[in-house]
Formats: sequence, structure tokens, C-alpha cells
Amino acid sequence: MSSKRKITVAYGDGIGPEIMKATLSILEAAGAQLEYDVIEIGEQVYLQGISSGMSPNSFQSLRDTKVFLKSPITTPQGGGFKSLNVTTRKSFGLYANVRPCKAYSPFIKTHFPKTDLVIIRENEEDLYAGIEHRQTQEVYQSLKLISRPGSEKIIRYAFEYAKKYGRKKVTCMTKDNIMKLADGLFRKVFNEVAKEYPEIENDHKIIDIGTALVADRPESFDVIVTLNLYGDIISDVAAEVTGSVGLGGSANVGEEVAMFEAIHGSAPDISGLGIANPSGLLNGAIMMLVHIGQPEVAEKISNAWMKTLEDGIHTGDIYQEGLSAKKVGTEEFAQAVIERLGQVPSSLTAASFDKESTAPMKIFVTDVPKQKKELIGVDVFLEWDEAGRDPQVLGEKLRQANADGLQLTLITNRGIKVFPDGMRESFCTDHWRCRFQTPEQSTISHGQIRELLKQVEELGLDFIKTENLYSFDGVRGYSLAQGE
Ligand code: NAD
Repeated sequence: MSSKRKITVAYGDGIGPEIMKATLSILEAAGAQLEYDVIEIGEQVYLQGISSGMSPNSFQSLRDTKVFLKSPITTPQGGGFKSLNVTTRKSFGLYANVRPCKAYSPFIKTHFPKTDLVIIRENEEDLYAGIEHRQTQEVYQSLKLISRPGSEKIIRYAFEYAKKYGRKKVTCMTKDNIMKLADGLFRKVFNEVAKEYPEIENDHKIIDIGTALVADRPESFDVIVTLNLYGDIISDVAAEVTGSVGLGGSANVGEEVAMFEAIHGSAPDISGLGIANPSGLLNGAIMMLVHIGQPEVAEKISNAWMKTLEDGIHTGDIYQEGLSAKKVGTEEFAQAVIERLGQVPSSLTAASFDKESTAPMKIFVTDVPKQKKELIGVDVFLEWDEAGRDPQVLGEKLRQANADGLQLTLITNRGIKVFPDGMRESFCTDHWRCRFQTPEQSTISHGQIRELLKQVEELGLDFIKTENLYSFDGVRGYSLAQGE
């Protein structure tokens, strides 16, 4: 049986074919044990009418090989085309986005020469679920969904990654001071999982100051684990400050399938000129080699690549007058890396990947006992634009509704309490959240909610949605209103 590992390869669009050819030539010269299943993705596939940019046969290839080395693609302009990356992530459950951001100073300009951090971003949940609704004339909603298993998987992945790659600290970033339930869950799970890794330091930063610190002193971070949207933003900040936008690789990892690529796009402006820098894709390929258990080859390539940078053999995008020795094209750059296979960098820190633990990381989700869930109220959302939007008028009207003790307790507008005893100055939109509970906050039935909605309708009010209020093992499962 061949010891070669089959992987799926896509040459992509724009500079994609040039950088893939260069990358594969380096992989082969370094002795990577690989076979390729080449698939077509991107612009041509989109234009054939396949809205995902990837044919069903190509999906099957990924299902079979489970490893995807992908060049950037061009998403055609105009509507109707789905992002290939988003489709691949969602279809194969690629829950972890891993982005190392490392400085290669002085060869790559950066104000932070010691930076060497990795961002591990949750890839499937959060606001990226794409559940959006227009609810009223004025208000649009985008749902942020955070799950316990989703959080645990990515957090465990971050700690396992730190262990495998000899990293010392994992920093969690959330906005749990504001989103106490959703972000609070992520932080709570982080604290639980961190206890299982006493050898790895852990801390937490609120995402706003955390992002500012990444921009101002990225050297102080090691591994950062965060939710989808924050991770999206902070990984670009980190790549920019380390100067690694053009050089960075990225991995999208799932339980079975993983996809490796460059951070940058298809650069149509320089396509076909033979001048593109293949380093981003090469760094993605290095991550892939570690992932599939060929760390020796990954190390050899990484060191030869750094030595090439040190020797001043630079493509145009990183060429610096006075520092670079020679400006080269894509193929010549790849040849320079190949010539240096077996050498190590002299001033940059040599790569060193763990050659013992080549087995895939073990990511599991803890079985959490189900809690007692009790329905103790309901938030009824209304569109209302009458009586000068006076909350007092709406409140008095809704006080007429009473479904077997289920009655109005408060009204908020954009989260701020406006009834009873609201502030006169609060600005009100046409979107009202009206909370109904029994005076004792006792358990209610779905039948009471149906009766309540009937009465609300009879009052001539337009309800746009409801949200049930639950307690879990007696703990409130919903936020209080601002000012409640
Ligand atoms: P881009 O990253 O392709 O290019 C931005 C600038 O960086 C350009 O000036 C380009 O010449 C330069 N550049 C990028 N990679 C380079 C390299 N390897 N060597 C030298 N210079 C390089 O971003 P863009 O112009 O905003 O996007 C172009 C296309 O790529 C769009 O269709 C976009 O949708 C797509 N895109 C794809 C991916 C992906 O497939 N993962 C990611 C981002 C953008």
C-alpha cells in the first residue's frame, strides 16, 4: 500500500494556479508524501451556474480525502453567488479557524518584531448563522446564537493546540460584560476547560480592550480563542500589525475535514505576471503537513522558507530597497526555497514541530446533565407607531390583557425600560418588547401565551414575535432590561 496521503487540491483563480504550482514544487522537493486529487473551484464553476462555486463531485473528493489545500478564488460580481469558503465551512462543520500571525522582522516590516500569536476563531455560530429578519418599518434583527457544545469544541481545540505546539498561554476574548448570557456562556466554558490544562496559563480580556492590546502590544499574546465575529476582526488586526497579510496561512478545521489556504485573495491585478508571492499558500501547506502527521517535512520547509527571507530573496510585494538582495518572481522564489531545504534560519527562530504527537488532536464535548426547564413568562414584541409613541399609552392598553394571571410587567424599547416609570428622554422606535409574567413569577402554560396573544390581537396591536422566558434549575435564562 502506498504511504502517500491523498489530498484534494484546487488551483483556484487569478494568481491561484501560479502559487499552487510553486507550493507543490516545494512540497515535492521536501519529500512530502502526498498524492493529489485535483478539483476545479471558483469563477468558472460559478459561471457554469453552480452557485456554491464547487461541484458535487468536488464535495465528494473532500469527503474522501478529508484534507483540502486550496488556492484563492475570485467570487464573480453580482448577486446569487454563495461564498465557497462559507459553504465549505458549514457543509463540513469546519468549526475552528486557525490563523498564526508571526513577525519576520527585519525582513518583513513590522513595529512588533517579537510577535508570534495564533488566533483560534469559532467558525460556525454567532452572528454568522445568518438568521436575520426585518421586523418593523424601522427595525432589523440579526440573531446571535452561541451553543455550549460549539463553545466547548473551539475552546478545547485552543488548549489542545497550545499543548501540541508548545504554546504557554491561552487568552479568551468576549464581551460578557454586556452579553452576559451568550458571551457569558463562552467565558464560563473557557474557565471550566482551562482547569483541565493547569500547565497552560489562561486569562480573559474584554474584546474591545483585547483588540486594542493586539494592535498595540501583540507580543504579549500567545493563543487567542474567541467567538466568530470578534475572531474575524481581530485576526485581520493581528495579521496587519505583524505585516503577515501577504504571508499568512490559515486553517479551517473540523472533526473530519480540514481546509488549508492563504489569507490573501486571488489578486487579479497581478494574475499571470509570475510575480505573486507563494508564501501565504506555502504557510497554509505547512500547517496541513503538521495536521496530517508529516511534521518533519513541515519543519524543513518552514526553515528553508525563513532562510530564503533572511537571504533577501524576495518577491516584489516584500522587496525592500537596501535590505533585499534580489527581486524574484514566483518560480524563482520557490526554487530558492528548494535550494535551502535542509538549512535553518540564522536570526529568525527556527521552526520546531512536535514529531512525537502526530495523532490528530482529541476534541470532545462533555455530556452535561439536562436541567429542569420551566416556562415563567413571555416577551411579546410589537410594532406600534401610535399616540406619539408614548410608552404610557401602550402600557395602559396592554394592562387590559390578562391571561389567567399572565400580565404586563414592563415594556422596553431597544432594551431600555420605558414602562412603567421610564425616562421621558428615552428615544423610542416602532419596536416594543412587552414582558408578561404572573405576579409571583410562577410557571405558566403555552395555552396562557396563546390566550394572551389573542387578547393582544383583539386590542388591535400587531405582534411580530414572541420569546419565551425560561428558568433552568431555578436560574433565570433571560436578561433583565436596562433599568429593570
Ligand atoms: P487580494 O488579497 O486578492 O489582493 C489585495 C492586494 O494584495 C492586491 O494588490 C494584490 O495584488 C496583493 N496580493 C495579494 N496576494 C498577493 C501575493 N500572494 N503576492 C503578491 N501580492 C499579493 O484581495 P482583493 O483584491 O480584495 O480580492 C481579489 C479577489 O479575491 C476577490 O474576488 C475576492 O472575493 C477574492 N478573495 C478570495 C479569498 C479566498 O479565496 N480565500 C480571500 C480573499 C479574497
